Amino acid sequence: MRQLTQKNELMKSICVYCGSNFGNRNSYLEAAQSLGVQMAERGITLIYGGGNVGLMGAVADSVLAAGGKVIGVMPQALVDKEIAHTGLSDLRVVGSMHERKSLMASLADAFIALPGGLGTLEEFCEVVTWTQLGFHHKACGLLNINGFYNRLISFLNHATQEQFIRSQHRSIVLVGETPVELIEKLSQFEIPNVHKWIDRDQE
Ligand code: AMP
Repeated sequence: MRQLTQKNELMKSICVYCGSNFGNRNSYLEAAQSLGVQMAERGITLIYGGGNVGLMGAVADSVLAAGGKVIGVMPQALVDKEIAHTGLSDLRVVGSMHERKSLMASLADAFIALPGGLGTLEEFCEVVTWTQLGFHHKACGLLNINGFYNRLISFLNHATQEQFIRSQHRSIVLVGETPVELIEKLSQFEIPNVHKWIDRDQE
C-alpha cells in the first residue's frame, strides 16, 4: 500500500460552499463575513456559486468590500431566476449544475463549507470524494461555526470506525472553528496518497 503524501500547493483560490439562506444565528453571517475578509487579506480568490442570496452573497460581498477577487459560477437557469450577484467582475455562466461544479472545482486550490443545507452538503461531499479517489489533490475543510457540523463529523468518525472510510481518508475532511484556523489547516495539509479500497490492501 502506498503511504506517500502529497502536499497542498500554495493556495491562491478557495471555493466556498455555503447556504443560500442565512440560517437563524448571527454567528453564521459573521463567520461568512470574517472568512471573506481573511481571504481578501491573504490575496486568496473566492470561487463560489455566483449568487447574491444568503451566506453565498454575504461571503462574496465581504471579499469584494475588502478589495479581494471573486469568481462566480452559475448555471443559466439560476441566473434566469435572478439570484445572480450583479456586482461581480467575473461571473461565468454555464449550462448545467454539473458544469458549474466541475468548473468551480477546477478553479479552486482548496474547498471550505460554511453552514448550509443540501446543496452545500452535496457540493462539499463531491470534492472530498474526488480528493479521496486522487482525481484532484486539494484540501477540504468544514468551518464548524457554533458546532454546526458536529453531527456530520460524528457520522464520519462512525463510518471510519465501521471501516467504510480509511482513517487516512477521514483526515481529508479538516475542521476549523474559525476562518483563520481553517485557512491555516488547509494550507498546511498533506493529502494522503493511499487507495480507497481497504480490502485490497494485501494485493
Ligand atoms: P443550500 O445549501 O441548499 O442552500 O444550497 C447552496 C447552493 O448550492 C444553492 O444556492 C445552489 O446554488 C447550490 N446547489 C444546490 N444544489 C446543488 C447541486 N445539486 N449541484 C450544485 N449546486 C447545487
